[in-house]
Amino acid sequence: MEKEIIYVIGHKSPDTDTVCSAIAYSSFLKKQKINAIPAYYGELNPETEYALDLFKVKDLLNLKSVKGKSVVLVDHNEAIQSPDGIEDSKVVEIVDHHKIGFSSSDPIAFIARPYGSTATIIAERMFLEQFKITKQIAGLLLCAILSDTIVFKSTTTTKTDMKIAKELAVIAGVTNLKIFGIELKKKKASLSGLSAEKILYSDFKLFEASDKKFGIGQIEVVDLKEGKERKEDIIKKLGEIVEKDGLSFGVLMMTDIIKEGSELIIVGDIKPIEKAFKVKIKDNSIYIPGMMSRKKDLVPKLM
Ligand code: MG
Ligand code: MG
Ligand code: MG
Repeated sequence: MEKEIIYVIGHKSPDTDTVCSAIAYSSFLKKQKINAIPAYYGELNPETEYALDLFKVKDLLNLKSVKGKSVVLVDHNEAIQSPDGIEDSKVVEIVDHHKIGFSSSDPIAFIARPYGSTATIIAERMFLEQFKITKQIAGLLLCAILSDTIVFKSTTTTKTDMKIAKELAVIAGVTNLKIFGIELKKKKASLSGLSAEKILYSDFKLFEASDKKFGIGQIEVVDLKEGKERKEDIIKKLGEIVEKDGLSFGVLMMTDIIKEGSELIIVGDIKPIEKAFKVKIKDNSIYIPGMMSRKKDLVPKLM
């Protein structure tokens, strides 16, 4: 009998952690004689493409739907963030570092750790189980950790992330984590050449709280001035998304990775954000110093 294929896949608007974790976890599952195939949904961002090129990943499977498939979800666990077709798929396992919003009628394996990246959870498990981590897998996991933790500047960073990253760097042959990480982040940290739609959808997530749906996009920049120039454009497009998806509000979080803070552009009901941060929003935007992480510094305050 043909062995069942298990697709390992992350969230929509894939980021480096979602894609690299899917690849690494597939290799780990394959060692356990599971017919695992890594995949992604949507479009790769330039940072992820850079990481894949650097560690020579070719022909990664792009799935348009997971309908009828068995899947391992990495780097997310809320169906609203999953690839299309999730309601008609069979989720067999989840590995994630986000708040838990998953429910299932069947018992499943669920590995959750409050680390700065899913890659940290996977790498820690590989080290524990003495799985032989190749240079390629180490490099991908390292990129994922540096990406999600914004080179350890994000408020989500834990001691485990730093410890695991250092161990992976040795295997991957990376000597200076900071320089390597900033180089990686810079691939995506620019708005130039991107349409407002691309800016918003490069990392856009939907959330639900007390019957209200809202969306938050995040993009990293090395200079917020860039964003100010594109503000009108972004507001218009964000307004269209809010309307199309029936959201109560939409946010673009422009995170300055040098200055370490985020400019929020908000369209729709601004009250939840005004209340959460005790601020007055003027002209659809506000700068919040120290805000680096959507899931730690923004989403919990809105829930
Ligand atoms: Mg992610
Ligand atoms: Mg992640
Ligand atoms: Mg992320």
